[in-house]
Amino acid sequence: MKKIDLKSLTINETKEVFLSIGEKSFRAEQVFRWIHGKMIESIDDITVLSKGLRDKLKDTHTIDNLTILQRFDSKEDDTKKYLFKLNDGNIIESVMMEYKHGVTLCLSTQVGCKMGCSFCASTQDGLVRNLTSGEILDQVYQIQKDLDVKVSNIVLMGSGEPLDNYDNVLNFLNILHSEKGQNIGYRHITLSTCGVVPKIKDLAHEDIPITLSISLHTPFDEERKKIMPISRKYSIDEIIEACKYYIERTNRRVTFEYTLIEGVNDRAEDAKELTKILKGLLCHVNLIPLNPIKEFNLKTPKAKYIKEFKDFLDSRGINSTIRREMGSDVNAACGQLRRDYIDTEE
Ligand code: SAH
Repeated sequence: MKKIDLKSLTINETKEVFLSIGEKSFRAEQVFRWIHGKMIESIDDITVLSKGLRDKLKDTHTIDNLTILQRFDSKEDDTKKYLFKLNDGNIIESVMMEYKHGVTLCLSTQVGCKMGCSFCASTQDGLVRNLTSGEILDQVYQIQKDLDVKVSNIVLMGSGEPLDNYDNVLNFLNILHSEKGQNIGYRHITLSTCGVVPKIKDLAHEDIPITLSISLHTPFDEERKKIMPISRKYSIDEIIEACKYYIERTNRRVTFEYTLIEGVNDRAEDAKELTKILKGLLCHVNLIPLNPIKEFNLKTPKAKYIKEFKDFLDSRGINSTIRREMGSDVNAACGQLRRDYIDTEE
């Protein structure tokens, strides 16, 4: 029988484990604190439990850990990229960025991705599997231990579509937020999605005020279908409706990510239509200069055009920022590191 990973369990699920083996529920709280607060890596290390109880727990349970395979330190800034090995040999990547307001981590939620966006490296070989809640959490724990830092912000913008791994991502959020664990406020967590409309509505019902970020990338459905296959299922109108609903329920400002690609979505008419569809919405636009992937023939617009695009949004009262490129010397775009690693190993 496969042992259950304690790191993937919420506090309530951990309590059920202890009740089921005839132990008191305060034991579960201790275990939860040691795994998610102290970030210990094996049941043997939970020395607050008696040896007998640890051995009993080990019959049915385990603690899964990621292994740091490689770390790449940017010479341009403090960005660090990690390649992690999972227990089954799969590889994922995460990024640590240091800003004035603290340390931000960009985490993966799946091995690969099935969404098929034409400019994204993560999706080139499709979806391999979902990450468990424990594997998403351990990206945080391993980096904190490696660098001796406390993370203050989390963005789910690494490989994978978080809303395609809904239950594990929700458990991850619950555990990360717990005051008995890392106690990271929901307002410091951003979930980015290509626009899985029914799941955006589900998320609105969870009563967790995280920041929702939509990868929009063009205001035209026809263009979006060409670069983001998910658009064949859900229209931009439906996405905007879902965002309105999310804002209504959570009172949170929604972010729209807009990766600027030369000749594809950087024209004056794109900027104009974008301001039309976002008018009156509590939102912010994050303009991301394309990070070119070697296999794709797509280019980043010249800085001058990116600035013009932003100026137009400003002129129509739509808040926006141009994302600063960080760590481009250590292979910035999500999915690139993992693919390069797999390519060199083969
Ligand atoms: N699946 C989720 C989260 C992962 S992608 C989503 O689609 O939002 C995180 C962000 O990086 C998305 O906005 C995505 O469109 C963007 N992105 C992917 N590849 C990129 C590239 N080569 N250059 C710039 N941005 C990219």
